[in-house]
Amino acid sequence: MLETWTQNELARLDGAGLLRDESVVTGPLHPRFELDGMEVLSLSSNSYLGLASDPRLISALQEGAERWGVGASASRLVGGTHRAHRQCERALSEYVQAPDALLFTSGYAANLGVISSLMHEGDLIFSDALNHASIIDGCRLSRAKTIVYAHRDTDDLRTKLEQCKHHEGRRLIVTDALFSMDGHLAPLQALRELANEFRADLMVDEAHSLGVLGPKGRGACAASGVKADVLIGTLGKAFGVCGAFAAASHSIIDLMKNRARSYVFSTAPPPALAETILVSIGLVREADDRRTQLLQHASRLRTGLTEKGFAVPPIDGAIVPLILHTPERTMRASELLLREGVYARGIRPPTVPTNTARLRLVPIATHTEAEIEDALQLIITAAKKVAS
Ligand code: PMP
Repeated sequence: MLETWTQNELARLDGAGLLRDESVVTGPLHPRFELDGMEVLSLSSNSYLGLASDPRLISALQEGAERWGVGASASRLVGGTHRAHRQCERALSEYVQAPDALLFTSGYAANLGVISSLMHEGDLIFSDALNHASIIDGCRLSRAKTIVYAHRDTDDLRTKLEQCKHHEGRRLIVTDALFSMDGHLAPLQALRELANEFRADLMVDEAHSLGVLGPKGRGACAASGVKADVLIGTLGKAFGVCGAFAAASHSIIDLMKNRARSYVFSTAPPPALAETILVSIGLVREADDRRTQLLQHASRLRTGLTEKGFAVPPIDGAIVPLILHTPERTMRASELLLREGVYARGIRPPTVPTNTARLRLVPIATHTEAEIEDALQLIITAAKKVAS
């Protein structure tokens, strides 16, 4: 039964042009890397600052593994919290200027654990229509009533908050800071004001803005002077490592240690990894030059495309969405680029809404200007070809 059903599902996805596969990387994750034996320029990495293969992080991981071993062996509540976990959390909370922080094994686990431990049946969550899948799943798991407001639309959110003014449960507004597939920011200040006005809390996921935007890379909230009640940061993107953290008050963090199931019931990030993250925080903090380079690369890609008549919406960070609408066109453009040595994966529904399939172009700070320029010309040629 299961086997037949599965085969039918796969055939259905294939028929709709939505079947996903994975490319095999056969070399280190530099800004150029080897894919299926061929050298390509990566425009599909989230290692924004080029730290994923930084020698300083490689050494930190090696030294950490020699000192503490490779794994963590158990959840922290059972196996014990390592000193390195604590040091890492102290450094993270200091970096984002929050009272406390808690490590999770991934951003996905963080959003699931945080939302479901803080919100329950009878509570209300107001969630942006284009929030990341992990936020959506966290909302579902919480059993709170989730009210989806139109993307970045604070008038719609206000109307929805007004309608629930007399609701007795707690309220949480939750948003991506920089939207991962669209590259623009949430209206953070307006969200903070609405949260204050309607006695709601504000949770912001800074996955794509931490390390990229704000003073010393402290993120979009820091850049706009907004204090989130809970901030999520991921460590597998600009920080070049893996894992994630929640930053909040001491009591919110203490409650998560007791109730966030993806924390309580999951093996801890290895102490060696916590030490590597610690080193990475220092590198990210001092990476102003890389941030400038990164944003210049993204801006060049966008203006180069708009000059040629492609509709690329304004961006606030390093993500440049080139919307080609259909999955077929998008995957064809991606294939054409790959043949020319540029790796830019197509993004299709359900990751993005129907008819908005796109190339999500993401430069790395350590790309050269010449590499970006060459890639831009190839993207223009491929996009023209699939559009005709
Ligand atoms: N939040 C957002 C906005 C993301 O884009 C992602 C991953 N792309 C995550 C959370 C999940 O983070 P992780 O990859 O560490 O699980």
